[in-house]
Parts: sequence; C-alpha cells; structure tokens
Amino acid sequence: MTTAITVTAADEQQLLGRIRTDLYIDGQWRAASSGRTFTVTDPSTGETLAEVADASPEDGQAALDAAHRAQRGWAKTPPRVRAEILRRAFDLVTARADEFALTMTLEMGKPLAESRGEVAYGAEFLRWFSEEAPRISGRYSTAPDGANRLLVVKRPVGPCLFITPWNFPLAMATRKIAPAIAAGCTMVLKPAALTPLTALLLTQVFEEAGLPPGVLNLIPTTSAGKVTAPLIKDPRLRKLSFTGSTEVGRRLIADSAEQVLRVSMELGGNAPFIVFEDADIPAAVAGGILAKMRNGGEACVAANRFLVHESVAEEFTTAFVERMAGFSAARGTEPQSTVGPLVDEATREKVSSLVAGAIEDGAHVALGGSSIPGPGYFYQPTVLTGVPAGARILDEEIFGPVAPITTFRTEAEAITLANDTPFGLVCFAFTADLNRALRLAEELDTGMLGINAGVVSNPAAPFGGVKQSGLGREGGFEGIDEYLETRYVGIADPFVSTSDTEDD
Ligand code: NAP
Repeated sequence: MTTAITVTAADEQQLLGRIRTDLYIDGQWRAASSGRTFTVTDPSTGETLAEVADASPEDGQAALDAAHRAQRGWAKTPPRVRAEILRRAFDLVTARADEFALTMTLEMGKPLAESRGEVAYGAEFLRWFSEEAPRISGRYSTAPDGANRLLVVKRPVGPCLFITPWNFPLAMATRKIAPAIAAGCTMVLKPAALTPLTALLLTQVFEEAGLPPGVLNLIPTTSAGKVTAPLIKDPRLRKLSFTGSTEVGRRLIADSAEQVLRVSMELGGNAPFIVFEDADIPAAVAGGILAKMRNGGEACVAANRFLVHESVAEEFTTAFVERMAGFSAARGTEPQSTVGPLVDEATREKVSSLVAGAIEDGAHVALGGSSIPGPGYFYQPTVLTGVPAGARILDEEIFGPVAPITTFRTEAEAITLANDTPFGLVCFAFTADLNRALRLAEELDTGMLGINAGVVSNPAAPFGGVKQSGLGREGGFEGIDEYLETRYVGIADPFVSTSDTEDD
C-alpha cells in the first residue's frame, strides 16, 4: 500500500486477504480445535470484515503448553538477540504502517490519521524495549558487616497471559509484548473479540522478525472467561497483565489470588480536565479537544469531566463548542473523517443513556446530544454545560465524544472535585502558575498528570493509575520491571573458609 489518503474498496480487500485469521500456537497457524470462527465487523457500516478462528479452552491450554515449553530456552537467549528481534519488529511495523493503520480503522473505526498516530505510538514500545533489553542488570555488593557478598539478579517472571481491549488494538498489545520479550518471558495473548485483526497482523510481523515458536501465542476468542480462567488457575502461568474495564479487572485479580499470580492492571479512568483562571485559554481549548476527542473519546485517559474556573467558563466553553462543532463524523477511511463511529451499539447506548441522564438532572446541551442515524454507531460530538454534581456522567467513564462542563471557584475546590472518584489514572490541568502546578503534582490522586498538555502517553514514560485505575506501570524504565523477578544470592565471604562463617 502507498501512503495515499484515499483508500479504495480494493485496497481494503487486498489488505484483509493478507491477514491470517487462524490461531497462532507454538509457531503454527492453526484452526480452532472446535473448527469454529467468529465474525469481525466494521463499526462504520456493520458489514463483515473477516471470519477469525475462535479459540476454545483446549486451544488456550495448548497455547500455555507452548509458552511453558519455550520459557526456559527463551530466558537463556542473549539479550542482544531479543533486542534485535524487537528492533526488526519495529522496522516491520513502521514499514507496514499504512496496513496497520487501515486494519485498525476498519475494525475499530477511528479515522486513518488517528490510526497512523497509534501505529507510531504502538511501534515505539518495540523500539524502546529493544533498547532496554540489554540494560537489564543486577548488583554485587558487600554486606554491611563485611561477612557476606550479596548478588542480586533479575530473572524473567515466566509465562504471561495478556488480555487486551479494543480501543487501541496495536498499542495495548505492544505495551505488554515488547517488555515481556525484552525480559525473556513467553506469552499468550488474548485480544478483544471486536478487534483481533491488528493482533493477527502483529503476530505475522513477529514471525517474520524471527521470534522463536512458543514465545508469542495468539488466541482470539469469543469465550474470554471460559478460555482464560483455566489458564489463570494453572500453576505454569506466572503473570497476568490486563488492560480493560475495572469491573473485569477486579474479577481477574480475585481469580489470580488462587495462584498468587503477579498481576498488572491497566483499568478504567475518570480524568478531570481542570482549567484555572490564569490558564492560556486557547491552549486549554486545544488541549481539551485532544484530551476529549483523541480516539473519539474511547480512551481510558480521555477527559471525562471538565472543571473550569467560573471566571473563564464562558470564554472556554464558547471556544470549545466551536472546535467540537468542527468535527466531521464519517467512516475512518473517508478523507474528511475526523471522528469515527463508536465501536458498537452497546457503547453508543451507554453514551446516549449518560447524556439523557445528565439532561434529566438539569444539564444544558450546548452542542450535539444525539446518535447520528444511518449505518454505523456514530454519535454527535457533544458538549453539556451546567452539569450538576452527582450526575452519573461525572462519575462513570463516558467512552464517547461527550464533554460535560462544570465550574469551580477555588483551587482547593478543584482538587477536591478532581479527587472525588474511585479512579485515579490521569488528570489534566491548565495553569500559568508553576507553584500551583507543583501543588497539583502533590495533591492529586492520579498516576499521571498533564500540565498544560492534553496528551501524556509516551512509551518512554511510566503509564498507569492508582486507586481503582490499576496496578503497575507500562512503558518507561519501569515497564520492564513488571516482567522481572528479583533473585538474591547470598555468598559467603570469599576470603575466609566457609567453616569460619556464621549464617543467620
Ligand atoms: P473489557 O470489557 O474489560 O474487555 C477488555 C478485555 O477483557 C477484552 O479482551 C475482553 O474480551 C476481556 N474480557 C472480558 N471479560 C472477561 C473475563 N471474564 N475474563 C477474561 N477476559 C475478559 O473492556 P473494554 O470494553 O474492551 O475496554 C474498555 C475499558 O478498558 C475501559 O474501561 C478503559 O478505560 C479500559 N482501558 C484502560 C487502559 C489503561 O491503560 N488504563 C487502556 C485502554 C483501555 P472480549 O473482547 O471477548 O469481551
């Protein structure tokens, strides 16, 4: 494919014809043991894109068998070899950026320009962790009393299970796969049933990049619970990394307790977007549009509540509504598309019900407020003002192009409102006051904070939340630690015979 803006139906068919749709277990592409497949559809049209092998619990077991068999050998692979496989995968994804972008646009709905942004972001995890693989290190030191030597080494955790969501089909997979490969772990990946094609294409890339059989096993399925629950209870599995809703994550943590499994959880958010009275308003509007409309609002870090100082509320809202009104809702392959459909009817219904509830509670519709009729699950970019405290839309993840705006009077009130949620993923704040920014960095209960920035995600930074937004971090120097165990080796003083030493 070229980088041409216009994508034809023939381009789509050619691409879909190149994506393998079987399970990938132990380096082999194979049909599901049940012979069953499931349909992947285009959320812009409701039309079928592909039929994908539907893994059964037996296939899940086969995938874990393969990951377990490959683990010992893979852990011994020189870090440089693991790094070079990741680097080749980075080069291949980058070279095939248009194919990955179109695949995501087709199965998830976002405009092609956004999909291209995700390709760059998702690929960068491969490059970042290719650079981290050779830097895994430990330490050797003398015990304080001088008697023993302390050797601390890092070891791969072992076989991992990855469960990923549909909203960033590439990046949510590479954010887990790349550090696991770098650390020397093998893995089973279960992508979201709505968007398995990107994961299938990525697996083809890893095969081409020379990843040995059994290191990455891919099991798309429509029976997420039935297929993954036995793996979580299997003592050969050593780590679960999940990105998705808090509700499912909570259940998986409980299931993981049986094996005392190491878990990483990237869960839901309820990001406040705070505009202080001293903010650069045009910059806050631009940041707010990014924070709200990136991925059509279907992002865990999407601005979910706009808290605007009452003295600048009118100026901010007028300019923000104007920008929101400029979005063009269309199939992501159309050149004019700047916002795609929601991923399915259930997601659209949830957005509609949150908006209807807010209106009942007294909110004013400044823009939009309805579904867009016709094929696909489109929803109008929407701005609600005067949203009263207690409205469900301020407490729940909207996951759509809807911005509820409320006002505040003091910094203390803004911080209290921002923290008044069981979630703690990210907060965005716009202010010209450096001391205030530093106070926010200390007072806000979130894993991440954007100051005068509407996007904070970066492969070189530790992404993750506190409270019910999750456990662990992905990306940055911290990301690889999720896949490493610390092993301590106590060594008797090499200058005296062992019979002279005392052991505590
Ligand atoms: P979801 O319903 O929790 O699904 C996420 C994944 O879990 C999918 O692969 C799903 O499979 C699987 N799953 C569902 N039930 C399961 C079960 N009982 N056992 C094992 N796996 C199960 O979430 P989603 O709607 O796809 O994604 C949206 C959520 O993800 C939002 O809450 C968003 O905030 C969160 N998210 C968080 C981050 C972060 O980094 N914090 C990033 C992106 C998204 P199926 O596809 O078959 O249902």
